[in-house]
Amino acid sequence: MSIPSTQTVAWIEDPGPSGKLTIRSGVSIQEPSQDEILVKLDCSGICHSDCRNIFGMGKYTDIPGHEGVGEVVKLGPGAKETLMGKRVGIKWLYSSCKKCSACKKGNINNCSKQSNTGRTTLGTLQQYVVAHADFVSLIPDGVKSEVAAPLLCAGLSLAGAVSKLAPEVEAGEFVVIVGAGGGLGHIGVQIATIKGYKVIAIDSGAEKEQLAKEMGSVAFIDYAKQDVVQAVKDLTDGEGAHGLICVAGSERAYQQAPQLIRNNGVFVCVGLPPDDFMFPMSPIHIANRGLVIRGSSTGTSEQMDELLQLAKEGKITPKIEVYDFEESPKIIQELDKYEVTGRKVVRAPV
Ligand SMILES: [Zn+2]
Ligand SMILES: [Zn+2]
Repeated sequence: MSIPSTQTVAWIEDPGPSGKLTIRSGVSIQEPSQDEILVKLDCSGICHSDCRNIFGMGKYTDIPGHEGVGEVVKLGPGAKETLMGKRVGIKWLYSSCKKCSACKKGNINNCSKQSNTGRTTLGTLQQYVVAHADFVSLIPDGVKSEVAAPLLCAGLSLAGAVSKLAPEVEAGEFVVIVGAGGGLGHIGVQIATIKGYKVIAIDSGAEKEQLAKEMGSVAFIDYAKQDVVQAVKDLTDGEGAHGLICVAGSERAYQQAPQLIRNNGVFVCVGLPPDDFMFPMSPIHIANRGLVIRGSSTGTSEQMDELLQLAKEGKITPKIEVYDFEESPKIIQELDKYEVTGRKVVRAPV
């Protein structure tokens, strides 16, 4: 296969509050170096956290995107030869150190020396992306690229988050998912339901309600129309849920969430509010109520493989809409306003 020298990408101009994503052509294609591969992308999901890159909420590279699927077209020195021609998924975790205590326990997603796609290396909103050979996921035959894409960040993040409910929260108990109709949340509803939890979905609007119910939630609470605290209590014998996953990144969601769980409940933090927002809970309440607070950022390799397998078996069915690459800037604007139900995926330019 002949590889061109330049390509079309989605480029961040002026990252910060007035940052913009723009379509730019004539951008060089990178060469894979030690242990790296070059992937010709089929498609890429666009995640709410890509908004952070564009609006300057941290230090990122010029090209966002961390849910890419495509074919390996070139190997750098040291990369496994068996990868050539394979269809792979590129995730937020570009690489981990393999040496720290988190890595040794298999929690590569919590490595303190990790590199990240779109943060330390260029993201997947390109035609060709360089990835680390040891950290891409093989996409099983029978799983379409556009179905696999949202599993690489959205799906994996929620597989990781749902796993953090155990051992305290048991099958048959109530789990609230705040932000249940978005890209991450709706897959979380499905994963938590498969694991036997009774999911109470919180989000807003008829479209997100319908999606949350299709994914298996036993109840839906519209935060724009209902008293959320009272509605959760009414569904859970007055005590609140046994566990909660806060997928929404809004300050309001984090402020309200502790009131939605019962004593000894488990609170899993996933959504990313602005960096200067502090956790809104008194240590006295955490102590007296015996609450468990856990953080979750993406997931492990095993969780990724399990998720792809479940997708192959038709048990995980993300709601996706596929768009042309040129729509990427518009999708970012919609994500920023929490207007996207499910996940929007863009086709790489041909
Ligand atoms: Zn993401
Ligand atoms: Zn490490």
